[in-house]
Amino acid sequence: MDIDKFEAEVDCPRCQFANPIWLKQARLRDVIICRGCKANIQLDDSMNTVRKGVLSVHQALDQLHHQIESINRLFR
Ligand SMILES: [Zn+2]
Repeated sequence: MDIDKFEAEVDCPRCQFANPIWLKQARLRDVIICRGCKANIQLDDSMNTVRKGVLSVHQALDQLHHQIESINRLFR
């Protein structure tokens, strides 16, 4: 399970264009170029948002795991 390959969106602070990024880019604090206005966006600012995103992905996977376990128990 590679969280780095999840896609996220970062709103451009200048034109609000939602730029698609990989979580890996956010983790590495990459600089991306806005597809709307061509401004440089330093992903550092959005790290908190991205961390929350990763956390909720983990929580969703945990829940899924528990659900699969309880389904497996039903068929045992
Ligand atoms: Zn922009």
